Amino acid sequence: MTSRVRNEGVRVGDSPYTPPPTGGATGGTVEILQLFRSGLVLTKTEVAARTGLSRSTINQRIDSLLDTRLVTPSGAESTKGRPAESFAFNRTGGHLLVADIGATGMRVGLCDLSGTILAEVELTIPVTEGPDIVLGLVGDEFVRLLKGAAALPDSVVGIGISVPGPVDTASGQVVHPPIMTGWDQYDIPGWFSRGYDCPVIVDKDANAMAFGEQQVSHPEVRHLLMVKVGTGVGSGLISDGRLHRGADGAAGDIGHNYVSKPAYVRDEPECRCGNIGCLEAYAGGWAILRDLQALGVDADSVDDAVRLLRSGNRDAVRLARNASQLLGEAIAVTVNLFNPQVVVIGGQLAAADDYLFAGIKSAVYRRSLPLATRRIQIVGATQGKQAGIIGLALLVAQSVFSDLPLPMLRPTTADRVAS
Ligand SMILES: [Zn+2]
Repeated sequence: MTSRVRNEGVRVGDSPYTPPPTGGATGGTVEILQLFRSGLVLTKTEVAARTGLSRSTINQRIDSLLDTRLVTPSGAESTKGRPAESFAFNRTGGHLLVADIGATGMRVGLCDLSGTILAEVELTIPVTEGPDIVLGLVGDEFVRLLKGAAALPDSVVGIGISVPGPVDTASGQVVHPPIMTGWDQYDIPGWFSRGYDCPVIVDKDANAMAFGEQQVSHPEVRHLLMVKVGTGVGSGLISDGRLHRGADGAAGDIGHNYVSKPAYVRDEPECRCGNIGCLEAYAGGWAILRDLQALGVDADSVDDAVRLLRSGNRDAVRLARNASQLLGEAIAVTVNLFNPQVVVIGGQLAAADDYLFAGIKSAVYRRSLPLATRRIQIVGATQGKQAGIIGLALLVAQSVFSDLPLPMLRPTTADRVAS
């Protein structure tokens, strides 16, 4: 089924996010599919009016979309006494599988073709266990979720994996990830192509969150900055309505920007990336945990640090306030550079602490240019712990149906892992 999707609707281009084609043997297919994906129910005459495509082209394209089950007949509408058949996107015509892999745990989900999550499961596992163990667990959960829905692997038209590290857009490989021991250059798409004949999209967690927040909570916003303050610090950019990954996928990695040493620190801290003085070496959850432990506070994990923050522990609150100033200054630089309309602050630390949020907000207003802050909204993330997986599901749906072929896609003929 996925090979049909690839062949029918998309073109090869040097950018993964080029607009859909309007000419050639399959031209217009993506354009027509986008109309139906937006929720419209249309007759062929209405499709012609909206696309300007010829009637014969529309007949061919809708026939091929019906073959793929991506579009389905949706009753008849009476036009001048004769019923005209109308069509709609068939969100139940297949499945998407997604896994949002975090530093200490993951969420794995089964979605319909609109990116709506049908079933999900949360697991605790450190990403440092390495790709074989972590992806093995993801694969097992995929099989379980499919079986739970009485669905076959053949019904899967796209897989999405988000990870807490930098991802090379071209290959889908994680590149020098500071916290993902053993994952450097690991072929994540290749791992899943052993069992599924469909595109595998790999992206960093902050990109998935940025896309989800924009799609769900700020659909009218064209320029959005998502900052995730969790175990580490990262960001995702939506530029002119589209996810901005940069030339190689490294855009938005603000956690490893150098920040000037604050007066209250004697020595610049070493970061997990090997540099010193990175933003997240002061303000990431792991750094706050390190500082709490140095003060003799009983905390073994970032979750413990978050609990202490929630309970108002004085040391934790003081560290979070210090962190908020540095985060705010770093975000202010990004605001000056990027001029977003909305800045979304998310991640488990941001969610735990009003001080952190308020401190970031005041630092951004203090440090950014008046033109950049004139209309800016700085808001909290709305999707909570599900932000990553919701965004990832929508990102996979978008990638599979309108942005293909992504360079990391792997056609396969290998045996299936699930049955
Ligand atoms: Zn660093």
